[in-house]
Amino acid sequence: MIGSSTALGTKTVAALAVEDRALAHNYSPLPVVIASGDGAWVTDVDGKRYLDGLAAYSAVNFGHGNARLLDAARAQLDRVTLTSRAFVNDQLGPFAAGLAELTGTDMVLPMNTGAEAVESAIKVSRAWGYRVKGVPQGKATIIVASGNFHGRTTTIISFSDDPVAHDDFGPYTPGFRTVPYGDASALRDAMDDTVVAVLVEPIQGEGGVVIPPADYLPSVRAICDEFGALFVADEIQSGLGRTGHTLAVSRVDVRPDLITLGKALGGGIVPVSAVVGSRDVLGVLRPGEHGSTFGGNPLAAAVGSEVVAMLGEGTFQQRALAGEPVLRGLLDDLVGKGVVTHRVAGLWAGIDIDPALGTGKEIATAMAARGVLVKDTHGSTIRFAPPLVVTDDEIATAIGALESVLRDRS
Ligand code: PLP
Repeated sequence: MIGSSTALGTKTVAALAVEDRALAHNYSPLPVVIASGDGAWVTDVDGKRYLDGLAAYSAVNFGHGNARLLDAARAQLDRVTLTSRAFVNDQLGPFAAGLAELTGTDMVLPMNTGAEAVESAIKVSRAWGYRVKGVPQGKATIIVASGNFHGRTTTIISFSDDPVAHDDFGPYTPGFRTVPYGDASALRDAMDDTVVAVLVEPIQGEGGVVIPPADYLPSVRAICDEFGALFVADEIQSGLGRTGHTLAVSRVDVRPDLITLGKALGGGIVPVSAVVGSRDVLGVLRPGEHGSTFGGNPLAAAVGSEVVAMLGEGTFQQRALAGEPVLRGLLDDLVGKGVVTHRVAGLWAGIDIDPALGTGKEIATAMAARGVLVKDTHGSTIRFAPPLVVTDDEIATAIGALESVLRDRS
């Protein structure tokens, strides 16, 4: 059943009450209590089905309950799940080799969450700055972009310009300089000898699927080369098929020095993240300087290897590329009918709704009542990022729900 009722089911109401009993209020979820998932769809505790237009922030790119990934996980569950890196496990080496080959890099530093991968890239960039570039100790600078979202740790939120993420969590980690996103000349003006890295998202996800001008990332590459700084691309949300490419930087044919990956790397099953890059850069890490009890565990590596194998076949990237014009065409039709503007890359859309019709959260809530789950980013912007197994008809269903919400509110 896919319904348009706004009344919550009895099991949903009960589950929301339990959720409220002891859980910290660090999220404000839509009142949808998911009990199961299959492909691009999820079902709530009352049996109502929803088209998933978020895919867990692109962690479920390959669909809920993907059989290949579940098989890989189940097989590994029966063998061994955690060894720590005090010993070598038989899954991690093949995973690292496969991921390096898939991304055209030399080395892989495995971690768990996206924020950990970004923290790791920051540490590696600073160590590279001191040991290779020769920046005086304590002076390393990393340039970041306005509107960034790289995670929630204290260092990362230190350079966030979102007051909700940033305020009241100081004192803040120094060593970061912020320039406007998409503005290569502002970046150039901010460069000096202390800059060890420029850290940017190729497309800003949480910022509202902000796609920079086509010459921006090539210019970042050229500026980094000119000033002897590393180009660090955070592909945690944009990478692994979402934009129709394994890496979003490939859309403009750019090769960063370090790339952070996460989310879909764990196939929607386990948290798996990584920093990938050249041996010249990642090779600066020495034993004991960085690590994680769970990073590179055999279960994560087994699932990650299957993700790498699937992406190596290219079908998910092709699906995202094929869906892009369908999604764009449907959204084009809504411009002036409640949609102010939109941005689409692969199966990833940021949609700016006329603020007079509601906030992003209000629009998302109304779409959920019509059986489609999307997430607001900020203000009146919503993001649509379904699992890449979504069909053209399902895309039309989702955008049809948006159309009907906008019509009702006009
Ligand atoms: N970097 C980017 C670009 C992200 O979009 C996110 C999460 O949304 C992160 C890093 C943080 O990932 P995690 O929530 O796994 O720590």
